[in-house]
Amino acid sequence: MSIKAWVVTGAKQKMVPQDIDLGPLGAEDVEVAVDHCGLCHSDLSVFNNDWGISQYPAVLGHEVVGRVTAVGPNAKGVQRGQRVGVGWFSASCMHCRQCMSGSHHLCPEAQATIIGHRGGFASHIRVHWAWAFPLPEKLNFAEAGPLICGGITVFSPLLRYAKSTDRVGSIGIGGLGHMALKFAAAYGCDVTAFTSSESKFDEAKGFGANHAVSTKNSAAIKRLGGSFDLLISTVNVKLDWDALIGTLAPNGRLHVVGAVLEPIPVVAFSLILQQRSVSGSPTGSPVAIETMLDFASRHNIAPQTEHFPMSMINEAFQRLQAGKARYRIVLDADF
Ligand SMILES: [Zn+2]
Ligand SMILES: [Zn+2]
Repeated sequence: MSIKAWVVTGAKQKMVPQDIDLGPLGAEDVEVAVDHCGLCHSDLSVFNNDWGISQYPAVLGHEVVGRVTAVGPNAKGVQRGQRVGVGWFSASCMHCRQCMSGSHHLCPEAQATIIGHRGGFASHIRVHWAWAFPLPEKLNFAEAGPLICGGITVFSPLLRYAKSTDRVGSIGIGGLGHMALKFAAAYGCDVTAFTSSESKFDEAKGFGANHAVSTKNSAAIKRLGGSFDLLISTVNVKLDWDALIGTLAPNGRLHVVGAVLEPIPVVAFSLILQQRSVSGSPTGSPVAIETMLDFASRHNIAPQTEHFPMSMINEAFQRLQAGKARYRIVLDADF
């Protein structure tokens, strides 16, 4: 079986279309014909080798929506023709303590979809059956891709920590942050958008924020002291972390999902006296992803997207790199 894919041959090299022979389908694997694939900031990080873990040649793309075209003899839970999504991981060992307790996304052998594995900017993708998520019929399939990486990344901390009576803030209103606002509003929380661009205030309120605050306005941040139960940080830039931690209520939590490469300084007393936490998480477990998809379909939550044909993949990456995407780019397969 030969597939078509957009291939990165080395860091920051323009992607080129290639035919790839995938060989026989693994016994527990399923093959999915790609209809749409979201473009996530992590694709850009692996494209640029920002994290030093990229493997080339690479096929990027890990927010896949497609239809199952083949099912290995030992694959479970998915049928040929079924509409499924694929996210950041495409396999895990299925026998370690984490996999056996439902936290497959914490498996030490979890296979990232775009590192040492061929991703979704292709005509087809192959994944282990446990990582192909059946999509609820009510979802808008063309817009669902970004939910499966970006969406679960911000939904997972809400699922784990938030109550509907909580005051929740999203730091950064971009690909991840705008979905955080939508999810937190649907959860019933009092929602605050923190953004460096005041031009996004109105749009943030359109996404469900009750309040909007500039991350550059230290006085405004200070006035919020002691008020948030949960802050979800989606940014990858340095901020005034001490001031932001100061906005947490007693027992409040700063939860980091944005891959900021500079360390976040934490003053012990600002945690101790108010019993606050700083934590982080990657994507979510398969059950959390299915729960998120169900919640999104029930509350009509979809990312705000811009669509490009997949053949314009290089232009789409440039647009994301330039910070111009509003708010998530989806590539529609056109092989
Ligand atoms: Zn992603
Ligand atoms: Zn495992």
